[in-house]
Amino acid sequence: MYHSISDDPETGVHPYFKVCTSPRRFGEQMQWLADQGCRGVTLSEGLAHLAPETEDKENDGGKKPVAITFDDGFRDFATAAFPALQRHGFSATMYLPTAFVSEERKHFKDRECLTWGEVRELRNAGAEFGSHTVNHPRLVQLGWPAIEAELRDSRTDLEQRLGAGVDHFAYPYAFPQAEKEFARRFSDLLRTAGYRTNVTTMIERADSQSDRLALPRLPANSDDDHELFTAKLAGAYDWMGSPQAVTKAVARWVRPGSRPVAIREKSK
Ligand SMILES: [Zn+2]
Repeated sequence: MYHSISDDPETGVHPYFKVCTSPRRFGEQMQWLADQGCRGVTLSEGLAHLAPETEDKENDGGKKPVAITFDDGFRDFATAAFPALQRHGFSATMYLPTAFVSEERKHFKDRECLTWGEVRELRNAGAEFGSHTVNHPRLVQLGWPAIEAELRDSRTDLEQRLGAGVDHFAYPYAFPQAEKEFARRFSDLLRTAGYRTNVTTMIERADSQSDRLALPRLPANSDDDHELFTAKLAGAYDWMGSPQAVTKAVARWVRPGSRPVAIREKSK
């Protein structure tokens, strides 16, 4: 899960909440993926590899697919991220908050956003696009009709702009996984609106058992050096299920001189 590929140091922001990855670090991370025998792919492609009938088979010469996703529709996806992806023959999925994408340049969180022209060019070059709502609201704070409108209107806009179906959604802000009733009803709304998948802030690697309408991701930013990045890929954070566990692990992660938490293979 990436956001912006830019040199903003985000001074004063806790490492866990940083959303910027420097272009240099992003380039290194893509190289580390390649070095690990991985291939960066869109969410659609990643999920196709996770289907039970293909999960255990070798694909693409045995290269492990890693779905790479971007939230928020920033322009640096076109200028910094995509060229780095292309150097390795990788692709990715970008989730757009559609109110901030226009034929004219708009801004979101003080950063430049993609234009529809750039979105179309990137799509022609192999990037995949999904919805990140219209207005990027905190959905839990809205009534159900407003949530429904965010899901429906962003999808309609994307479909009209791209001339193709839109299957994928990314939940803005922290996914309220503890609120079971909300999560259940939200899944129903996603399905009704026509989405097949929803990626969230739940930290884990997805597997064939993962709920397609509440998929986990691994956050990445400039602080992911080689050791931390490869530990995440290997599954070091798959067990960070509860907020308490996250807090504890992050405390270890940010202690000066500390090493990443121990790698534990996920039990199948
Ligand atoms: Zn977002």
